[in-house]
Amino acid sequence: MKVIKKLVSSDNAVKYLLKMEDGNTIETLYMYDKELKLTYHSTVCVSSQVGCSQGCFFCATGKQGFVRNLTPLEIIGQVDICADHCKETKLLPIDAVVFAGMGEPFMNYENVREAIISIYNKYKISNFEIATVGLTPRINRLINDFKNSDIKIRLNLSLHASSNDTRKHIMPVTLKYDIDSIIEAAVEYAEIFKIKTRIRYMIFKGVNDTEEDVERLERLLKGKPLKLIISAYNDNNIEGLMAPEQNDVIDFYNKLKNKIDCEIFHNFGSDIKGGCGQLKQEKMMEDGKIL
Ligand code: SF4
Repeated sequence: MKVIKKLVSSDNAVKYLLKMEDGNTIETLYMYDKELKLTYHSTVCVSSQVGCSQGCFFCATGKQGFVRNLTPLEIIGQVDICADHCKETKLLPIDAVVFAGMGEPFMNYENVREAIISIYNKYKISNFEIATVGLTPRINRLINDFKNSDIKIRLNLSLHASSNDTRKHIMPVTLKYDIDSIIEAAVEYAEIFKIKTRIRYMIFKGVNDTEEDVERLERLLKGKPLKLIISAYNDNNIEGLMAPEQNDVIDFYNKLKNKIDCEIFHNFGSDIKGGCGQLKQEKMMEDGKIL
């Protein structure tokens, strides 16, 4: 695996564009919490697939379509590159690996599971997080496979809408698994592993940030072992979707903060196209491979 682009952001995040043996490219993001305020300080966000079949409307990777699953070695290779970076720059060693890069990890479940076990054995990293659009049967599989393990895997569920009507337009997976069923799986997972599931909610201006959304989120999440993580859509030139102003995000958070457990996400690397698939999309545009 070769590094073909490495961008370092003003907040110490590093974005890699990596080329594999067969010429396909993927992205990996390294995030460093230099103020040591977050739970994990040195985190790698890995890709699990080349492209993705889930077709989320807002996602640059989704636009590229599915190409293939990554092998366990290609997943571990991303961690190796970031571990070398930490050593060279004398940063704290990696303490968490997050599967939130390109691809839906549960669509490559076997290889992701094997990679997690290998990374744990090689680096003694025991904190993992899997970001998913909510493939509930695979969430149940993960519970069965890791319920007696020392490896801690947090679930990170991308919700991004409070009603099925809105969500099915931006995340087609909703046609198969509706919001109630994925919230139920998220709660079950959190109760078994005694670790709150993160519910990711990216704000698209005027689409999912209304008063009704606030009310529905309260109804959906209140009193459950779930934490809402609110972030801003990173503008990606997609028709019909607009990034909110910073104040819109703060307003939305303020309306919810006394009702449910929630926080605003720290957007690492926004000045280096930290959003999933954006760097690869830019490189393809440079190469004339994508409109
Ligand atoms: S957001 Fe994740 S699951 Fe959806 S298309 Fe992008 S990579 Fe795939």
